[in-house]
Amino acid sequence: MLLLNPGPVTLSERVRKSLLQTDLCHRESEFFDLQDEARQRLLEIYALDPTAWSAVLMTGSGTAAVESMIGGLVPAQGKLLIVQNGVYGERIAQIAAQYGIAHTLVTHEWMEAPDLARIDAALAADRAITHVAVIHHETTTGRLNDLPAIDKLCQARGVRLLVDAVSSFGAEAIDFGGNIDAVAATANKCLHGVPGAAFVIARRDALASATSRTYYLDIARHAKLQDQRNTPFTPSVHAYYALVEALREHRDEGGWQARHQRYAALAEEVRSGLAALGVEALWPAAQSSVVLRAYRLPAGVTYEQLHDGLKARGFVIYAGQGGLSSQLFRISTMGALHASDMHRLIAGFREILHR
Ligand SMILES: *Cc1c(COP(=O)(O)O)cnc(C)c1O
Repeated sequence: MLLLNPGPVTLSERVRKSLLQTDLCHRESEFFDLQDEARQRLLEIYALDPTAWSAVLMTGSGTAAVESMIGGLVPAQGKLLIVQNGVYGERIAQIAAQYGIAHTLVTHEWMEAPDLARIDAALAADRAITHVAVIHHETTTGRLNDLPAIDKLCQARGVRLLVDAVSSFGAEAIDFGGNIDAVAATANKCLHGVPGAAFVIARRDALASATSRTYYLDIARHAKLQDQRNTPFTPSVHAYYALVEALREHRDEGGWQARHQRYAALAEEVRSGLAALGVEALWPAAQSSVVLRAYRLPAGVTYEQLHDGLKARGFVIYAGQGGLSSQLFRISTMGALHASDMHRLIAGFREILHR
């Protein structure tokens, strides 16, 4: 079965085999070697200076990393502006509400791009705002939000930026040179690891002023102990094995730029193949990530018919979320996938749609 959902991904044999390594106690030096290698390789993807940045690992899915970042890096007296244009922006608002973090929202329809003028006006109107949170790739619709433009607004207004890059880290450009304080992501999306290991790439000076709203996901505590070759709790050791092997593979294959090219080529195979069958992409490639594309359900076909027909042919596609489920379906090209797989996928669509 090939997974075309936005994570967990189809594993390469190299990563799958890495799960079969020797059992490790997480209080032994062998585990800390593994942890150190993961942390170092995560910073190397975007050539980050380890004296200025820390890769903070934690056990959990991507949401754990996002929650750790939001719960820790908005100071006690801080206020968060959340840019919301999909499910994951909504999730950050729910996290902020749950922790009692002062926050304000700039909301959009799920089909809309972030409105820079409205974001800037909201920042200008409320000088209490210290941080902006944004989703880099809104997986709800496949839209790649304009992170550089939002970062520029933050720079002009002197506020810091917290980024959910769970579904873009390792495959899309991220410029860490502006006002980004932290980026949250996970092993099992564009990095091609298994679920269970997540991480936040955070500025060390932001960690130094972190607060502690959560016990298990306390980012400053994790960062401090990991710097001391320590860990507060039992980590998902096998997920760390897979993460390290996936990071080695990512580097061997040419880093994030090569992964970007590879995803872009696969996504274009799917787009052009579906276009020939009359299935339209939701929007032009320039507004989409290379990671996932949303398509309009063709008339007279339900998502269930498509899903079940493709599953019988060895592919798992993904529904639209919430209200979009009757209009859209999504295809992610993350994971160990090849052009030949996409050709078989399109052949499967052709059989189902022409029945
Ligand atoms: C997948 C994803 C998450 C996290 O989801 P989990 O199920 O917790 O891994 C968060 N943000 C975005 C944008 C995502 O695509």
